[in-house]
Amino acid sequence: MAPWPKTVVLCIDGLDPSYIEATPTPAIDDLAAAGYYAVGQAVVPTVTNVNNVSIVTGTPPNEHGITANYVLDPRTGRETYMESAEFLCRPTILDRARRRGLSTAALTAKQKLLDLVGQGADYALCAEAPDAEMVQKLGPPPDIYAPDLNLWLLKALALLLREQDPDLVYCATTDGMMHRYAPESLESQAHIRGLDVALGHIAEDAPRHRILLTADHGMSGKEWGVDLEKALASGGIVARAIPIIKDRYVVHHGNLGGAAYVHLADLGALDQACALLSEIPGVEEVHPRQQAADRFQLMAERIGDLLVLADAYTVFGTFEAVRVPVRLRSHGSRHEGAIPILAYGPEAGGDYKRNYELTAGLCLG
Ligand SMILES: [Zn+2]
Repeated sequence: MAPWPKTVVLCIDGLDPSYIEATPTPAIDDLAAAGYYAVGQAVVPTVTNVNNVSIVTGTPPNEHGITANYVLDPRTGRETYMESAEFLCRPTILDRARRRGLSTAALTAKQKLLDLVGQGADYALCAEAPDAEMVQKLGPPPDIYAPDLNLWLLKALALLLREQDPDLVYCATTDGMMHRYAPESLESQAHIRGLDVALGHIAEDAPRHRILLTADHGMSGKEWGVDLEKALASGGIVARAIPIIKDRYVVHHGNLGGAAYVHLADLGALDQACALLSEIPGVEEVHPRQQAADRFQLMAERIGDLLVLADAYTVFGTFEAVRVPVRLRSHGSRHEGAIPILAYGPEAGGDYKRNYELTAGLCLG
């Protein structure tokens, strides 16, 4: 078997390419110039869990089974967060590496994401609840919503590489800053500069490492909120609309995102529901279950009767009317699909179009 180049996989949560364009990022530019860089595509729906799992397994959702942050099981009527490894239908790259006798680590900002992507990690750390040893060395991490939480996480990564140097590390930040600030804002520029400096230090400290960097989704400003349940009810159709973005960290996005799964009480109303939803301003695409599964590589039994996608300016959620003005930054639709793909170091060449293609070939067989 070929010698394994030590590898760091970074998923920078919500790193829309426009964030990199709006801020000087000399370290990222150097890595890109010496390696591979392209703007590629995330998986639809463009939410954190679906894409992080795509990256950490190197497979699309019809293989790994994570189709949302949050799902409704139509057989039981139970709604649940898709946030533990029991939902995973494929091994992670950490599992695969461990099977080859390699040492592994997973670092995330949020505990819930670690539960989902940390499968197969010899060492696991989340910035929300780090181990005492890391706190002793780096000081306590900032609050989960604080601007420099990601910087603390990257410091932990740098320390881990210096002290333990595992063969494969998966590291996923959080997108709180992207939800709050547009690329051109001073706050965002400071955040991106901080990430770039940290990345530069990591590349300097670990010059022989392969660095694979991408994002789970982009981010855009939203102006309209649409309540799909209310819209359907106005046509006499009883349905549940599940916000695909929904997670426990509500401050970031208020559970408002650009994609929803709709479960109909009566499947006989399917055509009528499609027609009604397609007429609503802000609704861009409505796909029945199988069509959605085929088009977006989703697991049909784990989505809704309909997948509804918003235009660039609209989010779905619960509102006081069918359509109301809103003001927030969020993701979930096709319009947050553009993400950076960077590969640097040994065996890092390639032609990557999707974020998960970056890791697809790691430790196979
Ligand atoms: Zn995310």
